[in-house]
Amino acid sequence: QTLASNSTHLDYSVTFNSIGGLDDHIMQLKEMVMLPMLYPELFTHMHIRPPRGVLFHGPPGTGKTLLARALAVACSTQERKVSFFLRKGSDCLSKWVGEAERQLRLLFQEARKNQPSIIFFDEIDGLAPVRSQRQDQTHASIVSTLLALMDGLDDRGQVIVIGATNRPDSLDPALRRPGRFDREFYFPLPDRAARYKILSIHTRHWKPPISRSLLMHLASSTNGYGGADLQALCTEAAMNAIRRTFPDIFKANEKLSISPENVQVTAEDFTHA
Ligand code: ATP
Repeated sequence: QTLASNSTHLDYSVTFNSIGGLDDHIMQLKEMVMLPMLYPELFTHMHIRPPRGVLFHGPPGTGKTLLARALAVACSTQERKVSFFLRKGSDCLSKWVGEAERQLRLLFQEARKNQPSIIFFDEIDGLAPVRSQRQDQTHASIVSTLLALMDGLDDRGQVIVIGATNRPDSLDPALRRPGRFDREFYFPLPDRAARYKILSIHTRHWKPPISRSLLMHLASSTNGYGGADLQALCTEAAMNAIRRTFPDIFKANEKLSISPENVQVTAEDFTHA
């Protein structure tokens, strides 16, 4: 996938309700990103500038991409859908001199043409590492291009750039100055209450629902798990329940006639998971 290719498909079922435990982030992003995207006239009227860049940092699998997607969905209206451009930092690099810069310019052009837009750079440190550390002309040139492109965004908040990284210190500090990625959000590993919420989200369609006491027990015994780990745990527990309910499903040579509603996930399925 090249940088300048089309926007990424948005799944409109991913909303703020799909996210457990990041309530403060959601509230602040509503003000910082959603308000200017939906009501630019407020900001023009008051002569204040919404941010152009926001940095998400924290351990892997803690909901950075998920929140960016939910934000794009929240900023969309029936008439005016947000274009979402998701790019991985290291994918943007090219062996051809100047190619990454060209692709970056095209990407910003596309984003402006299709505004309102959110550009999401996952692992942005791969695209813009500290210049002095690398002593590398190519990287220096890519960082300068990105800085110039961000400086060139107009002040109406219709194109927002979100960068995500697990290692904010390895990001070129020039990118963290005012006017660039000047708002930062730390995504911690979820605490017990957040783990409870995330587990409820990932099991919400199960029938019968898993009990409150099991959810509480699971939340208590998963210290150190991130959102992605909790999701994987739920998937594995469900798979265990499927194997247990239909022991012959893998032995059969043909498709069996089965009743999915017979699958009931138990505490043991979680223990084994
Ligand atoms: P990376 O740094 O590896 O890109 P990330 O922080 O962007 O990780 P996501 O891709 O957002 O992590 O999370 C992966 C999956 O884990 C999500 O699609 C979601 O299913 C689940 N998940 C992570 N965090 C949460 C959360 N806070 N609430 C609900 N689900 C979550």
